[in-house]
Amino acid sequence: MSTSSQIETPNRWQGIIHRYAEFLPVSEATPRITLCEGNTPLVSAENFVSAIGGKFSLYLKYEGLNPTASFKDRGMTMAISKACEKNAEVVACASTGNTSAAAAAYAAKAKLKCVVILPHGNIAMGKLSQALIYGAETIAIKGNFDDALRIVRELGETGRVEVVNSINPVRIEGQKTAAFEICDQLGRAPDFHFLPVGNAGNITAYWKGFKEYFDRDHTDKKPRIFGFQADGAAPLVDGAPIKNPETVATAIRIGNPASWDGAINAAKESNGMIGKATDDEILHAYKTIAQSDGIFAEPASAAPLAGIIQAVKRNEIPAGSIVTATMTGHGLKDPDRALSTAGTEPILVEPNTASVMKAIGM
Ligand SMILES: *Cc1c(COP(=O)(O)O)cnc(C)c1O
Repeated sequence: MSTSSQIETPNRWQGIIHRYAEFLPVSEATPRITLCEGNTPLVSAENFVSAIGGKFSLYLKYEGLNPTASFKDRGMTMAISKACEKNAEVVACASTGNTSAAAAAYAAKAKLKCVVILPHGNIAMGKLSQALIYGAETIAIKGNFDDALRIVRELGETGRVEVVNSINPVRIEGQKTAAFEICDQLGRAPDFHFLPVGNAGNITAYWKGFKEYFDRDHTDKKPRIFGFQADGAAPLVDGAPIKNPETVATAIRIGNPASWDGAINAAKESNGMIGKATDDEILHAYKTIAQSDGIFAEPASAAPLAGIIQAVKRNEIPAGSIVTATMTGHGLKDPDRALSTAGTEPILVEPNTASVMKAIGM
C-alpha cells in the first residue's frame, strides 16, 4: 500500500507478500507489514562438498540474510500483517530466540504491542538483544521452549492476544516462499533439500511450497526432504516427546514439536527422512562451512550439513545431484558459540611489524 509520503518504486524488492501474493492467503484488505524479507541468496558450497568427498552440487539458502537474520521473517510478515487485518492489539510468541526477534521487529513496524516468552538462560545473546532493542515485552520463564509454547497457547485462548508462533497457519504460508525462491533461483527444483527441524514448522512449510510449485507447473519434480534434529532433542526420530531436550543448537532445542505430523508427512511423502546429528557433528559442520565457504550460520543451521556428511558416508546422494540446504539463521546470533568453537584466540603482540611477522610464522 502506498501512502502520500511514499513514491512508487517498481524495481525495489518489497518482500515475500508482494512477490508471491498469488500463493498466499492475502487480499486487497490485508495491510502489508514488511521489512523486505526474502530474496536471500542461494550460495554454492563447492568447497564443503569437495572436503567431504561428495560428487554433487550443493547450494545453501542463506536465510541469515533476512532483516532480523533468520528465516522467521518470512512467516512473521504474514502473521503480523494478518494480525493487523484482524485489528489485533497484542501479539505473543514463545521462542528459542529467533521467533521473538522477528515478532518484535514486525510488531514494532506495525505499532503493535508484542510479548515474547523465552526459556531463561537458553537464548543466544544476539537474539535476546534483538527482542529488547525492538521493544518487545520480554518475559523469561524458568522452563524450556515447550513450557513457553504452552503458556502462549493459553494466552491465545483468552481471545485477547494473537499468537504468532508457527501453530498460527499463516506463518507456514509465509515460510513456504523460501521453497519457491529456491526453485526460481535454480530454474528447477532440487533433487534433495536438507534443513534443521525444531518445532517442525519450517519443514512443513518447505514441503508445502515445493508441492504447490509443482502442482502449478512451475517445476517438474519435487525434492526429497531430509530434516535433521539434534541428538539430545530428536523426538521425531525417537518417536516420542522428550521432556528435557538438550543441545548446543538452541534454536532446535525442542522436545515436543507443534508441527509433528507435518514433519513426518514431509519426510514420508517426499521419500525423504528425519535424522539426527550429535552436538559434535553439528559443531564440526558449523566450523567447516565457515572455513570452507565463508558461510557463518548459527549452530542449528549446521544440523543439515551434519546430515549431508552422514548421507555422503551412506552413499545416499547420487553423483550429479542438485542438493539444497537451508542456513536458517546467521552465525552472529550466537557469538559466544563461535568464540568457543573456533578454538583460537587473538594473538597479542607488541605494536610493530616484526612482532606480527613472528606471530604469523613469516
Ligand atoms: C526456528 C529455527 C529453526 C527450527 O525451525 P522449526 O520451524 O522450528 O523446525 C532452525 N534454525 C533456526 C536458526 C531457527 O531460528
